[in-house]
Amino acid sequence: MLKGRKVTVLGAGVAGLSVARALALRGAEVTVLEQAPEIREVGAGLQISPNGARVISALGLGAALGKAGQRAEAVELRDGESGAVVLRMDLSRAGTGNDFLFLHRADLIDVLQEGARDAGVTIRLLKQVDEVRLGAHPPRLVTTLGEEFEAEILIGADGLHSKVRAALNGTVAPFFTHQVAWRATLPAEPGIAPVAQVFMGSGRHLVTYPLRGGRLRNIVAVEERRRWAEESWSLTDDPLALRIAFEEFVPEVRGWLDRIERPNLWGLFRHPVAARWHGHGAAILGDAAHPTLPFLAQGANMALEDAWVLAETLDAGAGPETAFADYQRAREGRCRRIVDAANANARNYHLSGLRRDVAHLGLRALGKFAPDRVLGRFEWLYGHDVVGAPR
Ligand code: FAD
Repeated sequence: MLKGRKVTVLGAGVAGLSVARALALRGAEVTVLEQAPEIREVGAGLQISPNGARVISALGLGAALGKAGQRAEAVELRDGESGAVVLRMDLSRAGTGNDFLFLHRADLIDVLQEGARDAGVTIRLLKQVDEVRLGAHPPRLVTTLGEEFEAEILIGADGLHSKVRAALNGTVAPFFTHQVAWRATLPAEPGIAPVAQVFMGSGRHLVTYPLRGGRLRNIVAVEERRRWAEESWSLTDDPLALRIAFEEFVPEVRGWLDRIERPNLWGLFRHPVAARWHGHGAAILGDAAHPTLPFLAQGANMALEDAWVLAETLDAGAGPETAFADYQRAREGRCRRIVDAANANARNYHLSGLRRDVAHLGLRALGKFAPDRVLGRFEWLYGHDVVGAPR
């Protein structure tokens, strides 16, 4: 029922580009408005898990994804100070390894952008929307240069600081989680294993995995802090601060940090999941609806799931408002559960003293005596199938 409907998508990130292709494949005329002068992703690594990969395949982009990504073999939790493996989750078990990929964010954006354009989506760059007007008229967007766009259906995929979310919900100040994160990539040593490793320590942890076929090593290092002012992805920091924060970690980790010249640093803030995901001919998805901390590697995966469900409900023909209500009903509970699980992961990674020893003992026992239960605990997450779900 989308044939000929005009849809405006605000934002050309993972959410915007994937929903744009999903809608265009169903016959909608889709225009994406993006503030950037070119579609160029900042950042570094991203893990796409089977729940997200299913959507990319259903969008007809599975082969391109396979080419751009590197198949992950395992996830390992390690003690940061001793280096000992606490738990290894073998992704080849239960078929999960087939669709668990490490990707450079820029490569995923390239795949999705090309997919959107191939499906006939128009992408208009340098359109920074300053004002979103929702009410007793079709949604209107006003750019910083004063250009106005009227949308028959508006999809807000405009990320963490979404204007569409604010127009639907008002603004809510995010709060600092008392954690900061450094991010960097460095040339990988030869033979780097396709494994995501999490080194855990008191009040800090470090995640690393290979990118681009093992040419690069991706590093995200998180430390608890009392105070922080900025919420930005583009500040750089003195590498010495990063090295000092992890000076108690194993030489393997310190060796990687010694080679980092200009790490990015950002404060981790929490924004609540939006109460209203739709209204007045507009809906939001991805980070605009449910920003998450990165500790479960699910922000992009949730955005992909949202995109598929939103396009399906809109195509079902009951009219946008009913479709949007069905979409929020289908998605909100799951997204809240994922956001909560990501919050809890930070606490689990940062334990110290007796609590850490007990937790590590439990994880070691689980890995040794019931390895299938390790992956089983994530079935709700990775096994979720929005593509195959009943329509
Ligand atoms: P964004 O990617 O933020 O895209 C929003 C787009 O809208 C941007 O292009 C922006 O320029 C545009 N825009 C915004 N405002 C305007 C405006 N006013 N006018 C016009 N255009 C506008 N997720 C995973 O699934 N797996 C991972 O392994 C993972 N790792 C991560 C690691 C880190 C360090 C971080 C920070 C995040 C990670 N995530 C991961 C989360 C994931 O990157 C995000 O959840 C995902 O990119 C959100 O996509 P989005 O399209 O909703 O928002």
